[in-house]
Amino acid sequence: MNFKKSQQAFSEAKRYIPGGVNSPVRAFKSVGLDPIFIEKAKGSKIFDIDGNCYIDYICSWGPLILGHSNDRIIKGIEEIFAKGTSYGVPTEIETSMAKKIVEAVPSVDKVRMVNSGTEATMSALRLARAYTNKNKIIKFGGCYHGHSDGLLVKSGSGTLTYGIPTSPGVNSTVIEDTIVCEYNNIDSVKKAFREYSNDIAAIIVEPVAGNMGVVEADLDFLKYLRDITNENKSLLIFDEVITGFRLAYGGAGEVYDIKPDITCFGKIIGGGLPVGAYGGKAEIMDMIAPLGPVYQAGTLSGNPLAMHMGYKTIEILEENPKIYEELERKAVKLEEGFKEHIASLDIKATVNRVKGMLCLFMGEGPMDSYDQVMKSDTDKYSIFFREMLNRGILFPPAQFEGLFLSTEHSDEDIEKTLEFAYEALKIAYNK
Ligand code: PMP
Repeated sequence: MNFKKSQQAFSEAKRYIPGGVNSPVRAFKSVGLDPIFIEKAKGSKIFDIDGNCYIDYICSWGPLILGHSNDRIIKGIEEIFAKGTSYGVPTEIETSMAKKIVEAVPSVDKVRMVNSGTEATMSALRLARAYTNKNKIIKFGGCYHGHSDGLLVKSGSGTLTYGIPTSPGVNSTVIEDTIVCEYNNIDSVKKAFREYSNDIAAIIVEPVAGNMGVVEADLDFLKYLRDITNENKSLLIFDEVITGFRLAYGGAGEVYDIKPDITCFGKIIGGGLPVGAYGGKAEIMDMIAPLGPVYQAGTLSGNPLAMHMGYKTIEILEENPKIYEELERKAVKLEEGFKEHIASLDIKATVNRVKGMLCLFMGEGPMDSYDQVMKSDTDKYSIFFREMLNRGILFPPAQFEGLFLSTEHSDEDIEKTLEFAYEALKIAYNK
């Protein structure tokens, strides 16, 4: 495969954009390559500017559950454009969108739209602190909740990949109130509550971790988080920026039958345009301005184009509940295929799958904690990634990210992926 144009584009980009990219993982740095630059995408396929075509398992890191440029959701977008792109005064589509989310997620009575997942979690924490009149929050190692200062502590995603658990520029005073506990470790949470029981405003958690690969939370662990927060008058915040409308129509809350106090959304609810949201019990949400004193605002929040794309996406998901069975069926097909390869090549690799979310780790399982996940062989992943790329399969350019499937990934796509994965694993493991 020829990547000449992408390489030129990257050189040019680096002159004007830090690292040549607008989000670190896009630099392909952890797999030791230059990134590909994209020309266009449709369905499950993405095309770079050199004309190479790939089956895409990044899917914009989650928003594109209906695949790229889905005709049904982009239909009508031109009419909306023609009417104006942002008003700064309310529109009815914002209510329709909120209503859809409220109807889909039983723990959410009211919801506020923002522009990114980062804003959603940041605002949710402010609200939790105001509501409880407490200061501290608990997060878990390996969970990523966006890049607001107080959450940039031992986080996953790009920071995990690059091995910089905290970022310079984050004041120590800001993170003083962030307690980092161990994912799937009840004792670590118990200890935090023993020490700070009167001052913990909230626990924020990815109910299925999607930023250290894919790691499922034990049901007992999630139940414990619900109980301990109830007992201590703290709030439980589910960060469903990835899992919302992906794990199931009602997200992880529905799958695990747990009602958090606040849920954060992003990705799918914007259908590929910039969006985030946070919602929860009316009593809590009514503390937000203008009803209450907790300030949070946004020039482009509830933007009509983003609302249109998100609304249409959710509508299609609601009308076609089979989509979730299909996503899971495809994920299982990949899981089983990978597992067959692992067995027949006799290599140390592990597949984690939760519903339609999955990840292939280059290391021996069980991959059920941050510490375990960190034992993955990232060099082997880099080789695997490169071999897949050269065969026209775009995997996440980092070991600690899950694969994103869409309705548009065909059985043929999956079969091709598995065929090439065998060759790539063979090379990565020197077999
Ligand atoms: N929470 C989770 C669980 C995420 O995966 C992400 C981003 N991948 C965020 C929050 C931050 O969202 P955004 O990138 O839209 O700010």
